[in-house]
Amino acid sequence: MSYKTLILDPGHGGQDPGACAGGAIESLLNARVCHRIQAITNFFIPTILTRVYNDPNETELADRVKQATQYDLFISVHHNAATDTSAKGLEIYHYPGSEPGILLAKYCYDNILHYSEAAGIVRSGRGLKTKDLYVINQTPCPAILIEVGFMTNQLELWQMQQEKTIVTTAYAVAMAVLQFIGK
Ligand SMILES: [Zn+2]
Repeated sequence: MSYKTLILDPGHGGQDPGACAGGAIESLLNARVCHRIQAITNFFIPTILTRVYNDPNETELADRVKQATQYDLFISVHHNAATDTSAKGLEIYHYPGSEPGILLAKYCYDNILHYSEAAGIVRSGRGLKTKDLYVINQTPCPAILIEVGFMTNQLELWQMQQEKTIVTTAYAVAMAVLQFIGK
């Protein structure tokens, strides 16, 4: 399979800010990571974002997901929240039983933990998970959803707002995409 486009979906946006904690807004964090991923992957595979920063005319999620074809890769980026403020760590979701999806998720998961450790970022992993999430079950292509970490965890939130963490996470995901498409 040769993939034609990488679709990056910064979760939420428009009227939906996503999680809010400690003064940070999830939709903006998601967008920061996605813009950084695009800056790298665009050199290797045409990369589009499903939305831009705070555009009030952003399309609905259903329309964004409909843009995907079987020749695309689809990565949705989110930041997590929990009532338990000690909850922490990276999780990546893929559609149950999707072999390419599992592989892409595994590359991203391993890379994010590996590059974070190398950069001195304290980060734990909660593993690969499956869930029947709308964004990954409505796409005909390999699709994953990354929960970068917990905004409700004070240390993780502080870290995830640092440029170093954004760049490291984006670089790790970009390298995973290149591994996956064999470039
Ligand atoms: Zn979210």
